[in-house]
Parts: sequence; structure tokens; C-alpha cells
Amino acid sequence: ASAGQALNDSQKASERTHFVLIPLMAQGHTIPMIDMAHLLAEHGAQVSFITTPVNATTMAGFINHALATGLTIQFVKLNFPAVEFGLPNGCENADMIQARDLFKNFMEACAALREPLTAYLRQQHPSPSCIISDMSHWWTADIAREFGIPRLTFNGFCTFASLVRYIIVRDNLLEHVEDENELINFPGFPTPLQLTKEKRPGSLSVYGLEQIRKNIYEEIRSSGVVMNSFQELEALYIESFEQITGKKVWTLGPMCLCNQDINAMAARGNKASMDEAQCLRWLDLMKPGSVTFVSFGSLACTAPRQLVELGLGLEASKKPFVWVIKAGDKFPQVEEWLAEGFEERVKDRGLIIRGWAPQVLILWHKAIGGFMTRCGWNSTIEGICAGIPMITWPHFAEQFVNERLVVDVLKTGVEVGVKAVTQWGQEQTEVTVTRDAVEKAVSKLMDDGEAAEEMRMKAKEFGVKARKALEEGGSSYNNINLLIQEMGNQANASG
Ligand code: UDP
Repeated sequence: ASAGQALNDSQKASERTHFVLIPLMAQGHTIPMIDMAHLLAEHGAQVSFITTPVNATTMAGFINHALATGLTIQFVKLNFPAVEFGLPNGCENADMIQARDLFKNFMEACAALREPLTAYLRQQHPSPSCIISDMSHWWTADIAREFGIPRLTFNGFCTFASLVRYIIVRDNLLEHVEDENELINFPGFPTPLQLTKEKRPGSLSVYGLEQIRKNIYEEIRSSGVVMNSFQELEALYIESFEQITGKKVWTLGPMCLCNQDINAMAARGNKASMDEAQCLRWLDLMKPGSVTFVSFGSLACTAPRQLVELGLGLEASKKPFVWVIKAGDKFPQVEEWLAEGFEERVKDRGLIIRGWAPQVLILWHKAIGGFMTRCGWNSTIEGICAGIPMITWPHFAEQFVNERLVVDVLKTGVEVGVKAVTQWGQEQTEVTVTRDAVEKAVSKLMDDGEAAEEMRMKAKEFGVKARKALEEGGSSYNNINLLIQEMGNQANASG
């Protein structure tokens, strides 16, 4: 029986530590929080997971799995006021927002969940023990104060990037930097790091200044932060973060390892656009470690011409690949180009997945030997867990900082050589990474050379450490138990 089972047996429901999880409704933020819910419940806690009707439908696979395995997770569906805030009816997730300007409306609609959520929590007896809120929901801090319970924040970043972001805000580091290309140093950061202003974390300015200020103000007042990371991966940065911010870091990850069940792994995020079995059959035919998996996260924003150039680079590499393309209706010209001959030319060694891919399932397959990623933190840590080296191709937000972690600190990846930021909703029109650069990076990573071999070994080692962290007695495993204990004790003391 799992640790959770033992705790479940010995703890009555009324005595359980009760966490309220409030995710940002965007795949990259919700997926790890679903995994977090799973881990907390498995270790004996009670979880209320806040969602909305449309999002509940998207994650029906996970909800069914949780119900079937008896996890103590309550899915709380609050009506989302999309239309009231100028959004199309049913627009309840960031990946459904069609124009950048509407992101603000979306965040305001989220903040309007404050009343129904408070009403729901008032009905809970005993009161919940702790709120774990996405950092962008500043308004959940008021709820925590009303109930007199701790609020922990979750930002979906690694600690390395969280620390960079914190130093920028604390020192107002970028206020007087006019030149976007000037290299900036980060005082107090434990290892050498230089970045340009443009590549800073949080440059996804869709939030607007007022929202960012509120988020940070409430994050600073929070009782601690939860990270989808593990001690052995970034110990130095965790220690620095705690010292510099005075805040406890709870590393509970890698959260994607919460579930090894194939159906549950395939059901992460949206519904996969390709049958998993078909995908796995294709991979089964490939030599172990020979395939590059190319996928750029949950939001489509690579420009059509750049996608074509990337495809030509993959073709020139003459190596097998799985390429996830989210062009669809947004970039019909890419579909046309694929159909005009590319797909035919690479059909013996290239699998193209249009739309949503069962990413974790693919990464775990033995045929995969490299991962070309945009470096969103979820994808990055999923690659780390799979024990495979990466080709880094950051687009925006904290992805450029994650690239530095992978390439300079972990030494498990090569850069494709991105020069410019590609903002979501403001895609570049020119090609900034050439087919030659793509071909070179694929060769560097997938060839037999000594450097590539060393990267592969390092990646494997981190993969082993990642798994250990969540096994009985591992660092994250212990942290989950400690967090449940500590939040339970606080609730008892105040109740
Ligand atoms: N993902 C997936 N299939 C896809 C695209 C993304 O399963 O086709 C998952 C991926 O495994 C990861 C998350 O969606 O868990 C994307 O998060 P990440 O932080 O990598 O990127 P974001 O899109 O938030 O920038």
C-alpha cells in the first residue's frame, strides 16, 4: 500500500489537513497543480481543487482517474463569468484567448471568483487548513486572511528563475535599463548570470503593471512558496532563495512523476489529437535513443516562416523526429506547406502530431534521445525526469532563464541559438533561427561525440535523482509529508 493509504487508514477525514488549490487556468499552470493535488491526496491530505465547468470537462480524464483510485480530491466547479468580462462564452482557459488584449479581461474574470469561492469555503467544517494559490491570483490572499489560514504561492517556475525574478523586483533592476541588449548582472545570485532586459522572466507583459504589482505584493506577504522542483536539482538556488526572501521553499516535485499510469499520463492537459497507441507503435519501430522530440509548449506562437525553417532543419539532419505542431487554424500556411511535400519526404522517419500531444508518454519512450523544447518549466522538468538531453529554444517569459539552468548549470543541453524574444500574441515574422542552426544543434545532441555522450550521462543521472526524490524517504516525498503535518498543526492551533 502507498504511504497515502497508510495515512488514509489512520486519519479520519475530519482530522485531515485540507488544502485548497487554486490554479491559473492555463495548461502550463493547471497541469502541475493537478499533479500537486494528486501527490498531496496520496500522502493523506484532503484537497479541494478549484475549477470551472469548461476546465472540468477538459480534465475529465484526470477527474475520472482520481475518482476511480479513491483520491480524496474534491473538484469544485465555480461558474466563470466570461461574458460579464467581455470574453466569448466558454472562454475559461488562457489557451482559449484569441487576442492578447483579452488576457486582462480573463484575469479580471478570475478575480471575480473570489465571492463564490469564499461562499464555498464558508460551508466547509472544519475550515480548510491552507490555500495554495497560483501567484497570479493575488485576491486569494484576502480569502486566506478572512479564514486566518496560511497562503502558499505557486508560480510554476523553478527556483533558479524565481530567484532571478525576485532580485529584479527587489532591486528595481531594470527600471533604468534603456538598451534591451545590455547585459545585466544579478546582485546576490549565487552563480554568474547575465541576461538582457528583453530575456528577463516575466516579460510576458500581458498582465499589465498593476496586476504584476498586486501579485508580487501578495507573494511577498505569503507564508511560503511551493516549487515543482527537487532539492538535488537546484539546492544552491533553493538555499539562496530562502536566505534572500526569508521564505520557506517547499520543493514537492517533480510533480509529473506523481502518476505512472499510462492512461493518466496520456490524459494530461487537453485531449491528445493523435491516438496514443498509434504514437507508441511508431516509436517502437525506432532505435532506442535515436528520435528527437520537438514540441513548443501549450500555446502556439512560433511564426509560420520559422516553423517551416525548423522543419527544413529537421529534414536536413536526416535523423528521426516527432514534431508537435500547433499551427492549425491559426497558421493555415504551415498546413499547406506540410502537405506540399514535406510530410511525404520525411515519412519514413518523421512523425507529425498536429495539436495536442501526449507529451509525457512520448518523452518516457526509450526511442526518444533528445528533446527540442521552448523551455517552459513543465516541459523542462519533464525532460529532466525522462533523463534525456535537450536542445533549448526559448520563446518568452522565464524560458530564457531556464535555458541558462539547463545549459550552464545542469549541462544537459545545447542552445539552438535564439537571438530574439517571440512574445505570445506578437509573433516574430522573420526567421531568427536558421535551418542550419537547427541541423547543427540536432547533430550536436544526437551524434556519438564525446560531448554529446557526457550530456546524455548527466541527463540520465538527473533522471535517476528526480525519481528518487519522490520515492519513499526521498527529499520531495519527505517535504510533502512535512508540509501536510505543518499545515495541519497550524490549523489545529488556530482552530
Ligand atoms: N503539453 C502536452 N502536450 C502538448 C503540449 C504541451 O502534454 O502538445 C504539456 C506539457 O507536457 C507540459 C505543459 O503542457 O506539462 C506545457 O507546459 P510548459 O511549462 O512546458 O509550457 P507553456 O506552454 O506553459 O509555456
